[in-house]
Amino acid sequence: MYDFYLLDEELTPEERQIRDAVREFVRKEILPHIGEWWLKGEFPTHLIRAFGEMGLLGITTPEKYGGLGLSKRVYGIVARELEYGDSGIRSFVSVQNSLVMYPILTFGSEEQKRKYLPKLATGELVGCYGLTEPDAGSDPGSMKTRARKVQGGYILNGTKMWITNGSIADIAIVWAKDDEGIIRGFIVERDFKGFSTQDIKTKISLRASVTSELIFEDVFVPEENVLPKARGLKAPLMCLTQARYGIAWGAVGVGMAVLEEAVNYAKERIVFGRPLTHYQITQEKLADMLADLTKIQLMVYRLADLMDSGRANFRHVSLAKREAVRTAKRMAEKARGILGANGITAEYHAMRHMANMEAVETYEGTYEVHTLILGEYITGVPAYRICSEEVCGD
Ligand SMILES: Cc1cc2nc3c(=O)[nH]c(=O)nc-3n(C[C@H](O)[C@H](O)[C@H](O)COP(=O)(O)OP(=O)(O)OC[C@H]3O[C@@H](n4cnc5c(N)ncnc54)[C@H](O)[C@@H]3O)c2cc1C
Repeated sequence: MYDFYLLDEELTPEERQIRDAVREFVRKEILPHIGEWWLKGEFPTHLIRAFGEMGLLGITTPEKYGGLGLSKRVYGIVARELEYGDSGIRSFVSVQNSLVMYPILTFGSEEQKRKYLPKLATGELVGCYGLTEPDAGSDPGSMKTRARKVQGGYILNGTKMWITNGSIADIAIVWAKDDEGIIRGFIVERDFKGFSTQDIKTKISLRASVTSELIFEDVFVPEENVLPKARGLKAPLMCLTQARYGIAWGAVGVGMAVLEEAVNYAKERIVFGRPLTHYQITQEKLADMLADLTKIQLMVYRLADLMDSGRANFRHVSLAKREAVRTAKRMAEKARGILGANGITAEYHAMRHMANMEAVETYEGTYEVHTLILGEYITGVPAYRICSEEVCGD
């Protein structure tokens, strides 16, 4: 594994233990099968309980709710090691941690925390997060899903689109506008009447991941399933900040995987009578990849420190998500090229990672959206209107 600036030497013994356990798990349980799962468009649901047993669901969740109560840095390391395997696997863990457990922990009642968090931590329950709609992606404030107040709760109507884990989820965190047009959060259980899902099967990116449409037709959600402390767009955006942080770390895992694969291949592949590594053009490609990887490794490590010391804001996270994913995509493309024709097969990893990076660059704020967040920070001009200080917060 390439760690040129020895950054992992900063890890505590406990953090190293978790890293090594996840690393071994990925090599044993994921890498031998991932090409096949990806081609078949399957997510390995049989591994969910194993993720729970390893503590990967609820890494930063306090122990009293069944989590490990560990740092954001550990969460990052786990995301990196999982995405070394595949972005779909990391996405599952990101959604459960950052988009389901985090909102319940941050905006939920004590009863909601006790009811859902311990079961989410073991994997007994799976969650999903419904913010995007067919006509509202980068601009979630334009959502059409409505929550009409009725006696004892709300009636939900609308559609959510592109939802990771949708059809395998037992609960969905759903964002909808109430009668006053304020965005509220709801915990919708799978068996609530009028709630159905439909999988999106035609993806040619992130294929080892379930992506679904969520449909709400007059779904009654009782008052006790409303997140009491979530009001306005800031709440769902705060969840995205958490998830984007993990995505940045995950992209580093992709960078490590494709550099390693490219080097190993280039050492073995003989062209014009010599291994590919003996040519200067190849060495330049590999040196560029090492430089790219080291830059994003440094970035996420520093971001982890800012997160753990409470000094990070959403803009810091935007920069890391934007840069890490674009860099990993570029690295995967280079690695794919070094592998020649073999590089376009699922027997190797580079092209699968390259294809996955397309979805990862789109979800959780596209490259352009993060550019605009940073552009607003630099110039003071909100070139789009979603992410002012007021709605994004820290
Ligand atoms: C595999 C996958 C899994 C996902 N999982 C989830 C999930 O679990 N939960 C969830 O809620 N959502 C999820 N999403 C949805 C994802 O967050 C959205 O796709 C994303 O926010 C972009 O929205 P959009 O696809 O509607 O694109 P649009 O918003 O329609 O954007 C189209 C293009 O326009 C660009 N653009 C947008 N605004 C501007 C602007 N102001 N200036 C210039 N260019 C602009 C975008 O960058 C993009 O290139 C997932 C998506 C994918 C692909």
